[in-house]
Amino acid sequence: SVKLQLETTHYLQPLTHDSVRFINWQIRIMSRIRVAVIGGGAAGLCAGRHLVSDPQHFEFKIFEQWNEVGGTWCYTEMTGTDEYGVPIHSSMYRNLKTNVPKEIMPFPDFPFHDTDASFVHHTDVLKYLKEYARHYDLYKHIRLRTLVQEIKPTMGKCGKTVWKIVIKDVESNIEEQMEFDAVIVCNGHYSVPSIPNIEGMDKFEGVTQHSKDYRSPEQFRGVNVVILGAGSSGVDIAMEISAYAKEVYISHNLPEPLTCNLPSNVKQVPGIKFASSTDFTFLDDSSTHADALIYCTGYKFNFPFLTPECKVRIEGRRVMPLYKHLIHTELPSICFVGLPFQVLPFPLFHFQIQYFMKTLDGSITLPSKEEMDEETEKDFQRRLAMDMPPTCAHKMGLKRLPPVVRMVYDYVADRRKNNLMHYKAESYSLLDQGHFEKKEVSP
Ligand code: FAD
Repeated sequence: SVKLQLETTHYLQPLTHDSVRFINWQIRIMSRIRVAVIGGGAAGLCAGRHLVSDPQHFEFKIFEQWNEVGGTWCYTEMTGTDEYGVPIHSSMYRNLKTNVPKEIMPFPDFPFHDTDASFVHHTDVLKYLKEYARHYDLYKHIRLRTLVQEIKPTMGKCGKTVWKIVIKDVESNIEEQMEFDAVIVCNGHYSVPSIPNIEGMDKFEGVTQHSKDYRSPEQFRGVNVVILGAGSSGVDIAMEISAYAKEVYISHNLPEPLTCNLPSNVKQVPGIKFASSTDFTFLDDSSTHADALIYCTGYKFNFPFLTPECKVRIEGRRVMPLYKHLIHTELPSICFVGLPFQVLPFPLFHFQIQYFMKTLDGSITLPSKEEMDEETEKDFQRRLAMDMPPTCAHKMGLKRLPPVVRMVYDYVADRRKNNLMHYKAESYSLLDQGHFEKKEVSP
């Protein structure tokens, strides 16, 4: 019937913009859209959960380089590369508990299993993600130990983009090429360390480590440690280490010092000016002897599998050209999940994936490339006008979630600020859209 319609439309009347869109949509639904999902962490599983629910329009494969699903929540003692030479992806440390309560952290359609605590151990999050994968019967669509090496757009029939993907079985080293109509990139953004240049660092003789490779605090027993960066990892790791170290210095350039209560052996100092073999000098010219430096300086975006034909640019903390921080404006059949920060990641994935799928199945029509680029640039300029640095290109707020989520989020942020040592001892129940209840739980 589509063929007939095409012929009729073609010969009997000029093609209007709407009829072209309608025909394209019909052609698309005649065959299922083949989707490649890169990565089997929370975002990749979320993609699978939605794709599997619409078998009429979609078929898909999830490629995961590690030997299980869960992404960064797959804790391992290993650092560097694994036995097959694949870089260790997880940045989890042994004692990590979530920094948002489980009541507001999960996918909106799949609550967390029952636990007393609100701030759960990382093993509980992995258990949750595996339950999610099992519940939606995703395992048969997942290829574990499969590294995506290359993604390249090519011109298919009727000008449609076909994505050629080279994958490698990391155990056998056997490569394979496959074709897809769309790609959902879910490779995680907390795995490739960002390390600043520090004058004299090559002379420093102590231990240096990035938070990505930090696993446990015992190795810092009785020594002086400088933690560079006061983000969530910096503060959390400083707290853990303070129970073992002699002194811990949190070195940061935040406009205001942290106001939270800190253990007596934790001090705040400005950013590092330079290093010597044994000491660090800070921007206020104070200095200290240090046995170790831990970089808690964040991560870089990294898409080593994209060929130049993908036309993706990374400028600092900005990935371009992406409409709504997600969809490639020139090649709209590829999207990049999870770039925004200051978000609740799991709910964000849930919405991003569904939006992208609707653009693929024709339920949502994207604006033209020019309109998308213009909107994207306007959004970026608006941020700069608000005095945000360019690193905040993908920074978000939480406006559209139910008010109670914002309330718990703000309440926890406040407690973390003022009661860093004990804030994880409280647990929460969401009563309705605007109310929650809290109680103390034993650690
Ligand atoms: P990841 O979990 O990183 O998964 C990406 C997957 O892609 C990995 O499994 C990786 O092996 C795979 N992959 C990458 N490249 C390839 C390739 N080329 N081929 C095949 N597979 C590939 N979020 C919260 O909501 N609450 C918290 O309390 C919280 N704490 C955190 C603590 C730490 C230390 C870190 C690092 C992050 C934390 N996060 C937290 C954020 C967390 O990153 C997100 O919640 C979420 O798990 C990210 O999921 P993802 O799927 O985007 O990425």
